[in-house]
Amino acid sequence: MKRVVVFLYLVLFVSCRSQNSIPEKYANTIKQDDLYNYISVLASDSLEGRGTGTKGQKSAAIFIKNKFEKFGLLPWIKTKNGNSYFQEFKMHKKGIKKPFDLPMFLWNEKEVDEDELSNYVETENVLGYIKGSEKENEYIIISAHYDHLGRYEDKIFYGADDNASGTSALLEIAEAFSIALKENYKFKRSVIFAAFTGEEKGLLGSRYFMEYPTIESTKIAANLNIDMIGRNGDEFVNVIGASIITPKLEELIENVNDLYVDLRLDYSLDEGSTPSSLYKRSDQYNFARFGIPAVFFYGGYHSDYHRTSDTIDKINFSGLSKRTILIFHTAWELVNMKERF
Ligand SMILES: [Zn+2]
Repeated sequence: MKRVVVFLYLVLFVSCRSQNSIPEKYANTIKQDDLYNYISVLASDSLEGRGTGTKGQKSAAIFIKNKFEKFGLLPWIKTKNGNSYFQEFKMHKKGIKKPFDLPMFLWNEKEVDEDELSNYVETENVLGYIKGSEKENEYIIISAHYDHLGRYEDKIFYGADDNASGTSALLEIAEAFSIALKENYKFKRSVIFAAFTGEEKGLLGSRYFMEYPTIESTKIAANLNIDMIGRNGDEFVNVIGASIITPKLEELIENVNDLYVDLRLDYSLDEGSTPSSLYKRSDQYNFARFGIPAVFFYGGYHSDYHRTSDTIDKINFSGLSKRTILIFHTAWELVNMKERF
């Protein structure tokens, strides 16, 4: 049965491809130079490691917002003063040690004691979207966290891989979709581009997004999350958790990869095979726990992880762009497929 399904997928893809290669045209707008330029800003001295609630994190948020605006994405958040790209909230400076080790996390001013308030910082997710033409109320969410560890005294944690790499991929994918839209391509579903904050403090930005919803979780058809995809060469990518909610997401990624990218897809870090359970350690987990098909694209561990030495000179831009293109094509198929999973 699986073979038949795969065969049908291929027939579908190949026939689409022989008529035209619309997604490839837009995948070609994803450029190593652009990825480099984004990381060089996000992981620069002036952004001071993008610590949650700091000036550097705010500067990063404004940088991302300005790009979203330039691309022509719509601001997702509705406020009293009109629409905004920023979803603002308060979180405890310390964050939480492990995701979900508190029964409830206090977000809002009215839930926090007056004298406790000084321990809270303001922070924001950055959210832009494209409206679908046929299934406006079904959403694909592409996400990457843009916060990092900030600085400690005069030492900056640059977080070039973690996660300026994923944020740069998010921006390139958003731009590719926006160019298609400007050239009158009609996307079936809506797609939200989410740059999450507070990930390093316990996945708090994505958690806020899901627990103080601006969208019903049943309307979210899938989440593609990108975290650290800039290291360890250009031949593989770790695909984590793609078959946990439905095997179809993993099949789709396989097919897209065979057709367009040809990376080696590594499933060895999947749930169950590792005690640290990476699936629960980035923002996709906040979608998965609502039953939403979600996948974590990851380029693997390295000795600069969470050190000041995670810098741009160590990024493999060939690998980063191949992985970005794989995620772009996966997103394109999810947005346009006939029926959601
Ligand atoms: Zn990360």
